[in-house]
Amino acid sequence: MRQVSIALVHFPVVGRQGEPITTAVTNLDVHDLSRSARTFGLQNVFIVHPVEAQRTLIERVREHWVTGSGARRIPGRADALRLVRVVPTLESAVSELSVSGEAPELWTTAAQAHGEVCSYAEARARVATEGPPVLLIFGTGWGLAPSILAQASLRLEPIRGAGPWNHLSVRAACAISLDRLLGG
Ligand code: SAM
Repeated sequence: MRQVSIALVHFPVVGRQGEPITTAVTNLDVHDLSRSARTFGLQNVFIVHPVEAQRTLIERVREHWVTGSGARRIPGRADALRLVRVVPTLESAVSELSVSGEAPELWTTAAQAHGEVCSYAEARARVATEGPPVLLIFGTGWGLAPSILAQASLRLEPIRGAGPWNHLSVRAACAISLDRLLGG
């Protein structure tokens, strides 16, 4: 079984016109992705943000729920938020995951297919084998920048439902993706 981690990227992502932008952190994203990661047994939730003030904000949220008054009020939430790792770049997340051995494979997600994509069934089978860690990358804004999609070892197929509308929140997309890859 391969070790799966997730990354939520705030730069480089694209804006409405496809231009490179940096998005602000959404507190709900941090909580929801951490809870999904804890549910499916992941060890790391990388929150990627280039702006130091934003990283400080996320660290404060993490500490509130892991060691602060939030942990005293709702102890169980600490199990999820302690998975959060705040890093300035995606490369920093890769470096952290590489310390224990092999560099992770980068797997990306998107609401539209960009080039060749892999089915969740095939990706699930790959997760079940032995191999390098997987870093499953989610975007914000209008999606991951082409520079990230281009460096992926694997681009997961878009999650689709009934018809062409499939613009999910990143929170929903993460939960669905983890259930398809790791769920019972
Ligand atoms: N149009 C954007 C795109 O192509 O991903 C949607 C951005 S959405 C607000 C933010 C992130 O949620 C995306 O970068 C992707 O990681 C994930 N996401 C949203 N809808 C998805 C879908 N249908 N399938 C897979 N991932 C999705």
